[in-house]
Amino acid sequence: MPRYTGLINKYRDRLPVHDDTRIISLGEGNTPLIRLQNIPRLLGKDVDIYVKYEGLNPTGSFKDRGMTMAVTKAVEAGSHAIICASTGNTSAAAAAYAARAEITAFVLIPDGKIALGKLAQAMIYGAVVIQIKGNFDDGMRLVKEVAQKAPVTIVNSINPYRLQGQKTAAFEVVEELGFAPDFHCIPVGNAGNITAYWMGYSEYHASGIIHQRPRMVGYQASGAAPFLRGKMVDNPETVATAIRIGHPQSWDQAWKVREESNGWFDECSDEEILAAQKLLCEKEGIFCEPASAASLAGAMRDIQTAKIPEGSRIVCTLTGNGLKDPDVALKQCRTPLVSIEATLDQVQRAIVERLR
Ligand SMILES: *Cc1c(COP(=O)(O)O)cnc(C)c1O
Repeated sequence: MPRYTGLINKYRDRLPVHDDTRIISLGEGNTPLIRLQNIPRLLGKDVDIYVKYEGLNPTGSFKDRGMTMAVTKAVEAGSHAIICASTGNTSAAAAAYAARAEITAFVLIPDGKIALGKLAQAMIYGAVVIQIKGNFDDGMRLVKEVAQKAPVTIVNSINPYRLQGQKTAAFEVVEELGFAPDFHCIPVGNAGNITAYWMGYSEYHASGIIHQRPRMVGYQASGAAPFLRGKMVDNPETVATAIRIGHPQSWDQAWKVREESNGWFDECSDEEILAAQKLLCEKEGIFCEPASAASLAGAMRDIQTAKIPEGSRIVCTLTGNGLKDPDVALKQCRTPLVSIEATLDQVQRAIVERLR
């Protein structure tokens, strides 16, 4: 087996690159598909749930899949600078891949509404971080406008190469399972990722690698749920900052995915999202960020109501790593730290009292 060198090299036959294209990669992709063991038992339902743990990408989210393609193509086209609006993870990925390519990254982030780990990433990778007094949607509008006036390449998911890279996650799922799942559950912000997975499954279907495609199920946070409202939302609010988006850029594409896959959209409250994040940690040992947990929160509810029937095989994408947002994680932990003197006696007592 050759050394794994990232998703472009692995899937170059299905990606828009040439033999002599200089690939900008950090070894992204090839993330684990973990079968849940304890949560299905807790639900009391006969379902197979797998999570695609995208938090193990180089900068800790699935955005790296798209960014390796977008930056590779930007460099190929001779660009010396990239720009994006971001709720955090896109800026972290853009900053890292720009560093790797030795070009400049400009990132527009919403004032104060970005998880600490993501801000630290963008800054230490050396991006020019521009904080705007506005939300993601304002940033996106400004990025589109400024890119018409300055020589910068947009690397948001409106850049078609982003989705090309991201579709490879569906390829990996199929290769792990040997088939496509019955349901693919995924958090939805701009709706680029749900669109990309569907592209990936559809390509494998057209090539005869799979005979059936999954039903795509997209979950939004209740305070930022334009697909549920049927129209854009002007002041999105949710603890899941990665999906705090009211004007999704892939609006039409996502509706098409829902229709073609016979899937649906639904919403989760912040409480449901946080409960699912904690459950996944405590019952399976998997730490994802709040936005990612929307996929499991929604899936669990749809399993309980049998909208997702027993016997189903379900994949939930866990889009980002829990370490990105330590503040929200810590706030969820209500059991106090055990604080004692540094003596054997006290340590022993602390343990014995808590053995289960
Ligand atoms: C970007 C992101 C999403 C939303 O993906 P879209 O393609 O915008 O729908 C969800 N979760 C995390 C952690 C993200 O970074």
